[in-house]
Amino acid sequence: GIRIHDEIVRITQILEAAQIRFEGVKDFTLTNVSLLTENIVSMCLKEAVTNIVKHSGADVCSISIVQTWKELVIVIKDNGTFKSQEKGKPKGHGLVGMKERLEFVNGTMDISTDSGTTLTIRVPNDVK
Ligand code: ATP
Ligand code: MG
Repeated sequence: GIRIHDEIVRITQILEAAQIRFEGVKDFTLTNVSLLTENIVSMCLKEAVTNIVKHSGADVCSISIVQTWKELVIVIKDNGTFKSQEKGKPKGHGLVGMKERLEFVNGTMDISTDSGTTLTIRVPNDVK
């Protein structure tokens, strides 16, 4: 499994290679979440950033990670354009897979596509 700190290092490299400016946390460590939750959240971050590079046409990606007493909230935002499903294009598994994995740890994901794409991921703290 991958720790969130290491995933952010990789994300930074991927965005840099794609010439997309990265705004937000570069150094983050989680507390009060299980390794399973941390692995799933890391996988979601990676898929979200891969989607931004592949589909969005954005030049800025911002990521915020906030942990409150009850939950972890991650917001991943780009300033590109959400591409709705095109005819003939094979249906992807990334977004659906993120939701399915988050369900294992009682997490949720919401997507907003008003200006660019914003993913909001919430996962309860699961280690007291
Ligand atoms: P896969 O993830 O299985 O490799 P995929 O990336 O096409 O394939 P999803 O990750 O499920 O599939 O995304 C579904 C579709 O939503 C994408 O094909 C794309 O059209 C659109 N999309 C997702 N994220 C973004 C984004 N950040 N900007 C623009 N369009 C997006
Ligand atoms: Mg994808």
